[in-house]
Order: sequence, then C-alpha cells, then structure tokens
Amino acid sequence: MTDAKLIDGTVFSGKLRETIASRVAEMKGKHRITPGLAVVLVGEDPASQVYVRTKGKRTVETGMNSFEHKLPADTPEDSLLLLIDSLNKDPAVHGILVQLPVPKHIDTQKVIEAIDPAKDVDGFHPVNVGRLAAGMDALVPCTPLGSLLLLKDNLGKLGGLDAVVIGRSNIVGKPMAQLLIRESCTVTIAHSQTRDLPSVVRRADIVIAAVGRPEMIKGDWIKPGATVIDVGINRIDLPDGKTRLVGDVDFASAVKVAGAITPVPGGVGPMTIACLLRNTLVACARQHNLPEVEF
Ligand code: NDP
Repeated sequence: MTDAKLIDGTVFSGKLRETIASRVAEMKGKHRITPGLAVVLVGEDPASQVYVRTKGKRTVETGMNSFEHKLPADTPEDSLLLLIDSLNKDPAVHGILVQLPVPKHIDTQKVIEAIDPAKDVDGFHPVNVGRLAAGMDALVPCTPLGSLLLLKDNLGKLGGLDAVVIGRSNIVGKPMAQLLIRESCTVTIAHSQTRDLPSVVRRADIVIAAVGRPEMIKGDWIKPGATVIDVGINRIDLPDGKTRLVGDVDFASAVKVAGAITPVPGGVGPMTIACLLRNTLVACARQHNLPEVEF
C-alpha cells in the first residue's frame, strides 16, 4: 500500500489568506471599511506571546487593522472586563480575541461572556455555541473550522461518512462534532471514558484527533483509506536533549494506512489563524450589513 496523501495546511492556509486579503481590499475600496481585530493578552506566557505576535503579523498582512492590548499578569478581572466593554463599543474593532489561558485569578467564562457575540471571532460565547448547535449562522471556533475546510478540500461532500472525533473540549471536540453533523456525517464523539477506542476509530472514514496525548492513535486503529485530521500539538523531549512537535496520531504508522493525513506541524495549526482572519472578515461584513462572505 502506498503512503497516505499529505494534507498541506500551510499551502491551503496561504491561499485562504490570499482570498481574505483580496476581500479586505474590496471592502476598503468599495465601502471604505477596514476590518479590525483586537487581541488581548494578559500575562507573559511565552507560547501565548508567540501566538499573539503571529496573529498580529498575519492580520496586518491581509490589510486589516490589528489592535494589540498587552496587560500585566496581575491585571484585576474588572480592568479586563472594562477593556472588553470598550472594545465592544469601538466601531473600528470588528473582532475581539482574548488569548487563553488567562491567569488563574480571572474567571475565563466571565471573560468569554463579556465579549459581544457579534465580535466573538473565537466562537466561544454561549450565543455562538448555541447558534452553531441549532444550525444557525454563527461565528465558529477557528481550529474546528480550519479542520473542516481541509476535510472538504480533500473529500468534497462529506454527507453519509462515518466520522469519529476524539476529544470533547469546548474549543475543538464539541464544535468539530457540530460542524460534521451539519455536513451530514454520522458522528461519534469519543473521550477518556470511551470503551475500546481502537475499534471505535476503526469504523471511521474521518478521524479527528483532538486529545492532547502525543502519538496516542496508532496506525492499526485506522480504517484503510480513512482521512485523518490531527489537531494535537504536543512537544516531546528527544534523547539528544532537543524537543520536537508531534500530533495525537502516531504519524509514522498512520501514514501507511490512511488515505490522507495532516502532518504536525504544517497541518491544522496554520489553518487556525487563517480562520481567525476569516471570522474577523465575516464579523465585519455582518456588522455593516454587507453581503455574506462565503468561504
Ligand atoms: P482538552 O484537554 O481540553 O481536551 C482533551 C480531550 O481529550 C478531552 O475531551 C478528553 O476526555 C480527551 N481524552 C483525554 N485522554 C483521552 C484518552 N486516553 N482517550 C480518549 N480521549 C481522551 O484539549 P483541547 O481540545 O484543548 O486540545 C486537544 C489537542 O489539540 C491538544 O494537543 C492541543 O494542543 C491541540 N490544539 C491545537 C490547536 C491548533 O491550532 N492546531 C488549537 C487548540 C488545541 P475527557 O473530556 O473525558 O477528559
């Protein structure tokens, strides 16, 4: 059997960002509106700092305005909520993202619910969660949305396919399952208490791995020809003292069995930021009653 096709998220996300940039240029030219994304970072977590810097860079590259708010780790919850309130009211800001996790003294759910659902480009507000579940227009969390775009690009119509989502978090697993239901897949959601996970995964035409456990899903769990989307990002230590990023899927064995598979890095990762920009553009168009942006 030949190795699986590699689903290249770096190339796909690059094309998506080009499309977004041309829509932004059109919006600026025709309507004199520049979409704006505000990103709020509380504290100095090094990984979060890198994410925020990359988000800002990509936002500007597509022609949008980027507003970065860096607050000290000891910022009181009330001050953060006040900032969110001012961003909610700011007409130049169409999307608001508070980089998670926030420091422990701040209530994450309170922060999520303080963001205007119309500007909630992470799609975590209960209004957007509910709208997605009800099959209505919603701002959809970026990582599952990016995973879905890769799946559709690779498989076309997904209707009738068996999909297994491993992981039931609010940011990946649950919204991913909702998106797949919307595409008429038959969806199974697996989690830490699922019995005989290998046999559950073996039934699936589509496997979404969002567990956070390095290389847990083995090649002999995969149905031959299945499409595997590996959301996991895990840093592992190597014997020589260096580190390496791996997914939740054991790539070396899975690539021998799957029909198509995302690598880590270079699969779902770059899609997340591209979808954040897409959501900002969509939010901006809706706030100005402009025609819906289709992607
Ligand atoms: P969470 O820790 O919030 O959720 C993990 C899920 O995996 C839980 O539902 C948990 O089950 C389930 N799980 C844990 N152990 C097992 C097991 N042995 N068997 C079956 N299921 C298990 O993680 P996230 O959803 O936030 O993230 C998942 C992965 O995706 C991580 O590696 C993360 O780094 C990555 N990620 C990547 C992004 C990207 O941009 N590419 C963005 C976001 C996340 P239970 O609910 O029962 O505890």
